[in-house]
Amino acid sequence: MLDCVVTDAKIVNHTGIFEGEIGIRDGRITQVAKGISETTDRKVSARGKMVLPGLVDGHTHMEFPFMGTVTADDFESGTVASACGGVTTIIDFSIQPKGSSLLETYELWRKKADPKVCVDYSLHMVIREANQANLNQIRQIIRKGVQSVKLFMTYRRDGLLMSDINIYRIMKEVAKYGGVVGLHCENNDYIECLVSEFLAAEKTEPYYHAKSRPPEAEVEAVRRATTLAGFANANMYVVHMSTRGAMESVVEARNRGLDVYAETCPHYLTFTENMYRGLAAKNYVMSPPLRRREDKEALWLGLASGQIRTVASDHCCFTSEQKDLGKEDFSRIPNGVPGTEVILPILYHGVSRGLISLERLVQLTSYNPARQFGLFPRKGTIQVGSDADIVVLDPKKRQRLSKDNLHSRMDNSIYERITVTGFPVLTLSRGRVVHEDGQFVGKRGGGSYVPGRPHSVRPKDL
Ligand SMILES: [Zn+2]
Repeated sequence: MLDCVVTDAKIVNHTGIFEGEIGIRDGRITQVAKGISETTDRKVSARGKMVLPGLVDGHTHMEFPFMGTVTADDFESGTVASACGGVTTIIDFSIQPKGSSLLETYELWRKKADPKVCVDYSLHMVIREANQANLNQIRQIIRKGVQSVKLFMTYRRDGLLMSDINIYRIMKEVAKYGGVVGLHCENNDYIECLVSEFLAAEKTEPYYHAKSRPPEAEVEAVRRATTLAGFANANMYVVHMSTRGAMESVVEARNRGLDVYAETCPHYLTFTENMYRGLAAKNYVMSPPLRRREDKEALWLGLASGQIRTVASDHCCFTSEQKDLGKEDFSRIPNGVPGTEVILPILYHGVSRGLISLERLVQLTSYNPARQFGLFPRKGTIQVGSDADIVVLDPKKRQRLSKDNLHSRMDNSIYERITVTGFPVLTLSRGRVVHEDGQFVGKRGGGSYVPGRPHSVRPKDL
């Protein structure tokens, strides 16, 4: 007896499309076949729809203390939004409180997330200080399943900036145990210099946020980071990459034989820096900032060609009121925007426009992040033995991405004016229905921690 069978399913995996049925028992996929004869408790018809592996959102910040405040979504409200957007696994950034060890930080994040998460989750670790004690604990956190460490090349004022020598030291240590180093690539000195010039000239509006963080600041940092990754023989991952130049540097590094991969985010694929001229400019403040149209177009081409490996949300919400912390000074606006619920609709919009294929969508949002962060084959695919993490997308459903239709705690939606055709209508997390037609029907604490496995073999063939 099965728990559930998904019938009339047009199943889209990274390798292709198969029409058939999916059998589920005890939270796992037990059969994928043309027809399933075994009896079942529940049948879900997916006629006329598409059935995809649940998304793995490899970049979220729930309950994240940053720039003098804490992100508006906690692990409950944030993962409700994830579930309603077809995301069945998030990978959140645990960040060391000053003076805490890496193991203490891991425990702290487990304690925050475990009782609240509504879908499964895994963790990255932000390292603030490269002291010997932290270096010594890298091996232990990788054993706990935190196989990715993140370092910042900017945000000195917030105590996050890592020097080149320390990036190198950490990369070497992480590489020893098969982990990955994620990097926020922006040249801190250049940015600080521009920020102080603008502020001195009394240019304080959000528009100058983008002007003070130009594309070259990202390109330079990506080049430097890939050079360090080459020295350390490390597997490196550029988070939230936003420019064509950065993408070219990543490709160039890979052509030199380095394990360098990159992710981009829905907002860079949707908006341009023009948003900083609008009335709601503060709500679009994130780093790196929105870019030129040519960058946006290059990123879509990078998704199509496989030069960009993954799309993740960088879900990092601050309400309009929180954004007002920078009313007098753009450099004090908390950086970040929501996104976990819109990854699938924004990318499906790209499928409708012929920019990427359906299989590529699955690679970018599920299969590749699952591989990159050691969650495959449990996550990232619809196959026998995998977790029954499944999203059903209705290609005809029209939906406005307005705050009234989205589930985050945000008081506004940066996507407010955008209406998409094609939207997730059902999400299964380990066989349980957690979202149906815009309603969250799962439960607080229903998700679990999923440890990432380090790469004993480097993901060259991702
Ligand atoms: Zn982030």
